[in-house]
Amino acid sequence: MLATNGRLKIALQRSGRLTDESIGLLRACGLEFEFQKQSLYSPSRNFPLDILAIRDDDIPEYVQDGVADLGIVGQNILREKKTRVKELLPLGFGRCRLMISVPQRSTIRATRDLKRKRIGTTYPGILQRFLTEQGVNAEIIKLSGSVELAPTLDVADAICDIVSTGSTARMNGLRPLLTVLESEAVLIANRRSLQEKAKKADIERLLIRARGYLEARGKRYLMMNAPAKAVPHLKRIIPSLKSPTVVPLADSGMVAVHSVVAEDVFWDVMENLKKAGASDIIVTPIETIIR
Ligand code: ATP
Ligand code: ZN
Repeated sequence: MLATNGRLKIALQRSGRLTDESIGLLRACGLEFEFQKQSLYSPSRNFPLDILAIRDDDIPEYVQDGVADLGIVGQNILREKKTRVKELLPLGFGRCRLMISVPQRSTIRATRDLKRKRIGTTYPGILQRFLTEQGVNAEIIKLSGSVELAPTLDVADAICDIVSTGSTARMNGLRPLLTVLESEAVLIANRRSLQEKAKKADIERLLIRARGYLEARGKRYLMMNAPAKAVPHLKRIIPSLKSPTVVPLADSGMVAVHSVVAEDVFWDVMENLKKAGASDIIVTPIETIIR
């Protein structure tokens, strides 16, 4: 059963907040497979890789021990488990924060006020490192769930828990105090797999594709016609990574301008381009950018 057939194994969260985007990333890398939550393994039809679907908490150990060569897991889980794996690539999804919050009426206002207080958490490792760094001596209460209830039950004076926004804390009558860790999903690898020639080559192929996809995400490709003399002005409007490509058109004095633009500034850029004399503006999605 273990990795003896030369195929890569990637451990993904079976069912949870990271599942859809992890699967989406692999598909965007061109991998074809049927993903069934019920089955432990899902083989890819067109790439030497099998998906192993497990609980997110188990992913760092599975990758460390070589049960899987690769894994996708939140940095929050990765930093909490003391495993030796290689972090290959931050993936830009599964963003969340590990925050310390206190009851609304608490007298705790700053980090130093946590001294000798009880902090309930399922992240004792990360929290202890943070407190040591800050030079604060507090008592860590290790919990296994329902952390937000700890202050109400008077089990703790503060909690250290994952939130995607401050509003979750506020809903539970808590006030966010400070951020201990900003987290996102990352691609991790087993260290020995990175030294095996054939596996390393397949991991590299996958990495190039993943980087291309991440690079293209949130970006559009812009094409437009413009008077040649307007180009310096157009260049200032397009906050592009690279300088735009400018191609002369048969029509004298006119050029075609091509460029990459970020989705979030896209409409502003379009309006300004039009005002600056651009016409026939075409916008297309970008699937990947291989550098
Ligand atoms: P499992 O059954 O696999 O153990 P889980 O309940 O522990 O699942 P999820 O709640 O699905 O885990 O969260 C998985 C990961 O998603 C978290 O470890 C974290 O990295 C990330 N995440 C993103 N946003 C949030 C959020 N608002 N709350 C909790 N986790 C989040
Ligand atoms: Zn979990």
